[in-house]
Amino acid sequence: MLPGDTLRHSNFQPQEAQDQPIYRAAGKGGKRVALTFDDGPYPGLTEQYLAVLEAHQATATFFVIGCRAERYPHLVRDMSSKGHEVGSHSWQHACLSKVNSLGAKEDLLRTARTLESITGKPVRYFRPPYGALGPGVMEAARELDESVVLWNVDPRDWTNPGPQAIIQRVLAQVRDGSIILLHEGRPGTLQALPILIRELRQQGYELVTLSELLSSSEKPSAAASPPQKEKGYRPPSVKETTYQPPSVSRTTYSPPQAGAGDKAPPAEQFPAPLPPKR
Ligand SMILES: [Zn+2]
Repeated sequence: MLPGDTLRHSNFQPQEAQDQPIYRAAGKGGKRVALTFDDGPYPGLTEQYLAVLEAHQATATFFVIGCRAERYPHLVRDMSSKGHEVGSHSWQHACLSKVNSLGAKEDLLRTARTLESITGKPVRYFRPPYGALGPGVMEAARELDESVVLWNVDPRDWTNPGPQAIIQRVLAQVRDGSIILLHEGRPGTLQALPILIRELRQQGYELVTLSELLSSSEKPSAAASPPQKEKGYRPPSVKETTYQPPSVSRTTYSPPQAGAGDKAPPAEQFPAPLPPKR
């Protein structure tokens, strides 16, 4: 299935987890879009993302990795206290498409408990690493009352195309009700962010959290066709389920400097931020 397809329940209830993945707000999303940031938190960069959002009075949704949240709870607390939504992006960014429901549930539950203990709020949304879906993940999310959220705008910022390309790609794909996929820990994304916010607003878009976006939608419209840019999309292949981080990921990743007892996560917890690989 393609991102951008409307796969929402026809009897959408915004307060309940959905049985199908969500790619964008269905139906009347209005000129509202959700910025989503995956793979954080990242000390040294998350603060800057938050500062940009605050300076522009924009809200967003952060899909954080459980083990990173546990390591840097203050950043997750900041996200939440500044009005942003915090969703789950699994415990340590493993591909869960082949994991059975028990294994997936363990992962999601551990992540949810960690996030809830930090923010004091329930986790309502789960975004599977790599966008990789499987029956186990869907069942686990359903049991935990988390809606599975993907995206319908992907500028592939994880390939570090530069801020201009990120901005242009988002603007080319965005439409009412869009869920925009971006990543934490990416200086190019951070650079693009203030301009992107301004451009989206100039086009009349309001930036809202996922909860706001999804509760603003009404009944889904007839099957929306996927945006052109996503025509090349293919689901993650089996090969990618065993995907190992390229060494370049590690060399470009700068672990936070140890200070005040704040050590970088142990190596086995990486690769935390592996981008969706297609
Ligand atoms: Zn990710």
